[in-house]
Amino acid sequence: MITLDLVLPDTAYPIHIGRHLLTRTDLLCPHLPIHDAVIVTNTTVAPLYLAPLQSALEANGVRVTPVILPDGEAYKTSETLNLIYDALLQRHCERKTTLIALGGGVVGDMTGFAAATYQRGAPFIQIPTTLLAQVDSSVGGKTAINHPLGKNMIGAFYQPRVVLADLALLDTLPERELSAGLAEVIKYGLLGNAEFFQWLETHMPALRTRDMGALQEAVRVACRMKADIVAADERETGQRALLNLGHTFGHAIEAGLGYGAWLHGEAVAAGMVLAAETSAALGWLSPREVDRITALIAAAGLPVTAPDLGVNTWLELMAHDKKVEAGKLRFVLLHGIGDARIESGVPTSVLEAVLTGRRI
Ligand code: NAD
Ligand code: MG
Repeated sequence: MITLDLVLPDTAYPIHIGRHLLTRTDLLCPHLPIHDAVIVTNTTVAPLYLAPLQSALEANGVRVTPVILPDGEAYKTSETLNLIYDALLQRHCERKTTLIALGGGVVGDMTGFAAATYQRGAPFIQIPTTLLAQVDSSVGGKTAINHPLGKNMIGAFYQPRVVLADLALLDTLPERELSAGLAEVIKYGLLGNAEFFQWLETHMPALRTRDMGALQEAVRVACRMKADIVAADERETGQRALLNLGHTFGHAIEAGLGYGAWLHGEAVAAGMVLAAETSAALGWLSPREVDRITALIAAAGLPVTAPDLGVNTWLELMAHDKKVEAGKLRFVLLHGIGDARIESGVPTSVLEAVLTGRRI
């Protein structure tokens, strides 16, 4: 097991990465202020992993209330959130009851938001069960639910007390979900770590066959990078926005095709290729680098060609992205592999050329 620390001005917490951590109550129990916990999970993850976690906690004298939510992004809503509050209130849970998220990013985001708001803030623990959640959503304290008018629009910054990334849980993850998580892993190499990008070029086959050593290294580097970026800019007033590499294009793909048609990681993958092509069109990236990026994304089992949304729809959807500031479209673009920067003055003509596949 490896332990990383995320140190913020008001708090600090460990991120444990390894195999068979699910029942390691020695890692969990010290973070419970009282012997009372609610495990929030979903109908897919519960049959796989709820029982061992619940039994391990109960064996330590912890009262456990499981809350099993329906599975899917479509349920990341205020109605589903209420199911968590209902359980907390029915069981007369206090402010010191710990909410444990056992699931992917959807469960993690909802549980975190429930914890942030239940009696103005209850302790919260993340046990991420998807690769995406282990390398991205469980670290950094962004929590949210969706609103019919926008994804992740209702939320809070609220940090967990500990993150337990158990790599053994990834054994049951569908291949498509594994690839979606790899998109965010590749993102870290691209945005700030050329050596890691090169490591990924060598180790992609091992990652796709879930070699535990390779997975541990990928999750370690990704979490370390995310922790450092969040530590420097918890509220995303500056450099944390680099984590949105590929996301302005990606969000347009998700919204343009209708949420759920492409997984988030798939949309980000094609979005990163578009970001690379835009960077190349501006003369910042060489064709050879674009080829390397495209090849690595393809090797992860991810799409490299974005759907044709029509250039006007593209521009309209991107203008609605949360990352728009003062009406200005901002992109994270590359000045080399491992060198991402936030850019706001990208000419529309360049975007149009890239989105229509024209060479300029
Ligand atoms: P997800 O939570 O929907 O999980 C994907 C699927 O895998 C689900 O069907 C889930 O039930 C299933 N699953 C989970 N663990 C499994 C396992 N071990 N074995 C088998 N099946 C398993 O999707 P996700 O990709 O983990 O997360 C996406 C969500 O995360 C989005 O809502 C996104 O907005 C959010 N997100 C948040 C942040 C953040 O910083 N808070 C960052 C990135 C993404
Ligand atoms: Mg993302």
